[in-house]
Amino acid sequence: MIDLRSDTLTLPDEPMLRTILTARLGDDGRLDAEGRGEDLAVNELEDMAAEVSGKEAGLLCASGTMGNQAALLTWCRPGDTVLIDELQHLDRSEKTAFTPRFGQLKKVTYRSDASLMPNTASMEEELKNGPVKLICIENTHNYTGGACIDLKRMAEIRSLADRYGVPVHMDGARVFNAAAFLGTTVKEIARYVDSLMFCVSKGLGAPVGSLLCGTRKFISEAKEMRKLLGGAMRQAGIIAAPAIYALKHNVERLREDNENAQFCASLLKDLKKVKAQQNVQTNIMMLDMEGAGITPQEFCARAKERGLLIRPIIGSFVRLVFYKGITRSDAERAAAIVREIDGEL
Ligand SMILES: *Cc1c(COP(=O)(O)O)cnc(C)c1O
Repeated sequence: MIDLRSDTLTLPDEPMLRTILTARLGDDGRLDAEGRGEDLAVNELEDMAAEVSGKEAGLLCASGTMGNQAALLTWCRPGDTVLIDELQHLDRSEKTAFTPRFGQLKKVTYRSDASLMPNTASMEEELKNGPVKLICIENTHNYTGGACIDLKRMAEIRSLADRYGVPVHMDGARVFNAAAFLGTTVKEIARYVDSLMFCVSKGLGAPVGSLLCGTRKFISEAKEMRKLLGGAMRQAGIIAAPAIYALKHNVERLREDNENAQFCASLLKDLKKVKAQQNVQTNIMMLDMEGAGITPQEFCARAKERGLLIRPIIGSFVRLVFYKGITRSDAERAAAIVREIDGEL
């Protein structure tokens, strides 16, 4: 079975798991005068996250959801308005900060261009309309098929935000894939935002965790928020150690995942009914079932019968995700299966 449901399916390998045995563990919930916990592996990971993102400090969170929501709730207070993308993960899938039962934040949305990057004119319309407390962007963008925001657009978003005096939070769950595609570093991308979250549990291949990064002051407040969300952990070095390993060993190879996704798309240029995304940049590619005479669910069921696990993601789309352990020949086989099913429609 070729399983392309998500890059969260990466399993820790032996050398990664071995790092847990020698991790310098302690109680990360017990803080010293500087607000640092006693788990040295967690501290090492948080310092690495700060370094790689060019921010003052990092904070280990149990999930990307916790990292994003802690950020929103740190930047904003109930009733504040947040400017987000129409199809942003932190709204569509996470919700916490926006539901009346929890964060009680309000949202206004901006559109994307044909380039799938945030349309700054659309952003400015909303900024003009009324007080916006925070701007959120997503790089790479999940629901539109792994699109990147390039450095030029990042700079434009920054200068717009500065003109209106609004901070920017970036959901960078897969920002390392973006850096690989854009031929730059995460630090260069992160220069333009005030806070960012990235996941080590996706393409980077660690079992658990996400890092929230920002100024020392922001991270110290976010740490309080993480505690309120139930996210103060104890010997969290057990998850920090594999994450450190991931940042040391699994960043360079993300290029392969991006290339495998692009390769798969290149084999699906002339499908009969299904539309395969052609502007693939990173490790996600989408198949659009609109007008193909089959539902996304049914398409996935037929793929499963042939040995390919994929899943419906949003609207008429099915998502294929490429990650460590998925080879070029898996990508080729996956394309062949999609072709076979399309041929029968
Ligand atoms: C996966 C993902 C998250 C959150 O990740 P979890 O660790 O599953 O909570 C946030 N944003 C984007 C764009 C994602 O793809």
